[in-house]
Amino acid sequence: MLVVLRKEADPGAVERALAGAGLWCRRLQARAGDTPTQLWVLPFSQEVSAEALLAIDGVAAIADSPSPHPRLDAQPRPAIVAGVRFGVAEAPVLLAGPCAVESAAQISELARRLARQGVRFLRGGAFKPRSSPYAFRGHGVEALGWLRRAAEENGLGVVTEALGEGDVDAVVEHADLVQIGSRNMQNFALLRACGKRARPILLKRGMAATLEEWRLAAEHCLEAGAPSVLLCERGLRGFDGETRNLLDLGAVALLAHVHGLPVVVDPSHASGRRDLVVPLSRAALAAGAAGLLIETHADPSAALSDGPQALLPEELARIGAPAPREGHS
Ligand code: PEP
Ligand code: MN
Repeated sequence: MLVVLRKEADPGAVERALAGAGLWCRRLQARAGDTPTQLWVLPFSQEVSAEALLAIDGVAAIADSPSPHPRLDAQPRPAIVAGVRFGVAEAPVLLAGPCAVESAAQISELARRLARQGVRFLRGGAFKPRSSPYAFRGHGVEALGWLRRAAEENGLGVVTEALGEGDVDAVVEHADLVQIGSRNMQNFALLRACGKRARPILLKRGMAATLEEWRLAAEHCLEAGAPSVLLCERGLRGFDGETRNLLDLGAVALLAHVHGLPVVVDPSHASGRRDLVVPLSRAALAAGAAGLLIETHADPSAALSDGPQALLPEELARIGAPAPREGHS
């Protein structure tokens, strides 16, 4: 949005008044001698009515500049995925499971224990992005079948990652929510291939992505046909590896409270350490997260990937989030 000033206005005074109303502005260079000063309202500002802006001394007019992500802005609030509501004003949603689906028996036992903890979505990787080609990269399509069966037996939804365009058909067949990983946030061909399958998408933030790049990636998914996109903050590449990543809770508060977007926080990949998962989960909920994506394992020390950050399913209760769902004992 642009705020056009009266010729005689003091731009500094108008900027101060706008800042007081929660709007951050950039002053645009006047093009020719007597064109009025214009202030560009930055996208992370508060929403303020046109009447309130026009009432500020020195403001002549306001002009809308089109949003670069109109579909994201217009997403229904709360977002509803497989009947579950995600929004800052809704009960927080737990999405949990192992980093990788390791066997039919593993995921079946875990699903049963997770359902008792109030978890709504079973997460598990069938196609795993791994830094080393020699690390366990998932059991592929077979694991998707194990995951779906385990979820259905326990009344859970499924979230799992599509790592490449070639996986999308199989993932969509088995998942209620398609995860796009951090490393793929700007793989536009993958974003669009997932969007076209008309499934909700859990879009992880790239580890060095700006918020606008993230929002634009979500817009690609929506423009291609996705019914909704949940944004997943999983930590940025920081300068100190002691906590693996740097969980950006400021971004969570901004997206959730200022923009009203559904944000899921992944404290497991954000910290890489199970002793930090519970405190970071609580902090994420306090910041406005609509859900938590948490890695769990029945025997973390034997996990094929990401064991050091995995909780036992029963440890989810320490977060003090949602009550267990009825019907599971
Ligand atoms: C994951 O969720 O298992 C994962 C690999 O996450 P990320 O893309 O955030 O690294
Ligand atoms: Mn993992």
